[in-house]
Amino acid sequence: MHSPASSAAGSPPGAPPRGAGRYAPSPSGDLHLGNLRTAVVAWVLARDSGRAFRMRVDDLDTARSRPGVAERQLADLAAIGIDWDGEIMWESERSEAYAAAAGRLADRGLVYECYCSRREIAEAPRAPHSPPGAYPGTCRYLTGAERALRREALGPGRTPALRLRAEVAELTVHDLVLGSHTGVVDDVVLRRGDGVWAYNLAVVVDDADQGVDQVVRGEDLLSSAPRQVYLAELLGLPRPEYAHVPLAVNAAGERLAKRDGAVTLADLAREGTTTRSAVARIVASLGGPEGADSIEALRGVITAESLQSGPWVVA
Ligand code: GLU
Repeated sequence: MHSPASSAAGSPPGAPPRGAGRYAPSPSGDLHLGNLRTAVVAWVLARDSGRAFRMRVDDLDTARSRPGVAERQLADLAAIGIDWDGEIMWESERSEAYAAAAGRLADRGLVYECYCSRREIAEAPRAPHSPPGAYPGTCRYLTGAERALRREALGPGRTPALRLRAEVAELTVHDLVLGSHTGVVDDVVLRRGDGVWAYNLAVVVDDADQGVDQVVRGEDLLSSAPRQVYLAELLGLPRPEYAHVPLAVNAAGERLAKRDGAVTLADLAREGTTTRSAVARIVASLGGPEGADSIEALRGVITAESLQSGPWVVA
């Protein structure tokens, strides 16, 4: 495994602490070319700006994490030339940090229990100005007596979800690639009804604990950034800079997926395509020199502007 722990300490004495970039795969399946390309972008932008690069496995939902998948993802990232500093962070080992952060919010009256099922949320009447996808606020205004009844009705073994009592409805973030984005901030879930800590809380707590001040990830997560910035502000954590990378798509313009054929390193190897030629495709797609088969060839080449050219068509 490619994990140069020795460079973790980083800066020489007296030097200002350098920030970090990161990649944070969820171990739900093998990484495809689009995921690998986004990881390469994150690595290049971090290294080119003198930052450290951190690795994190977003395995919050252990029931959905399949055995061996994270290890294969990490091996694939190392195989294409990505290295990282320090220990890998595993979200499944971080419950105490999430509980502490939620506790700090609760101490300020910013957390409430939510008993809603998905269906209740979907069917709840919405205020006319309420943006689609936002929590309608059903449990926010319950009285103590109503809460007691709802809690009892949950039945054994089920816990209420925890939600943030948000005091704004939207927030604007600046994205280095996509520009200014104003998006919904609602009463986000902090802990799910099955006891699993929620992605938005975990990402904010973990980025801060890993010293991450540059978040480079797929464009699909841009809509989460306003909620995450808001949470970071409430927790007194610094706001990272964001660069959301346009996704890889298939010939029909749909988001690249397993069913699109040979899209993972393992699929490609079965077809006789080497990892080096997969890297060469990624390098070329990012404006690197034609035929270069090392991600080093992208150092100094990728900029936020160069990423504005839109999705990568993997045909
Ligand atoms: N684990 C998330 C994913 O694979 C990414 C989290 C993030 O970059 O904030 O979609």
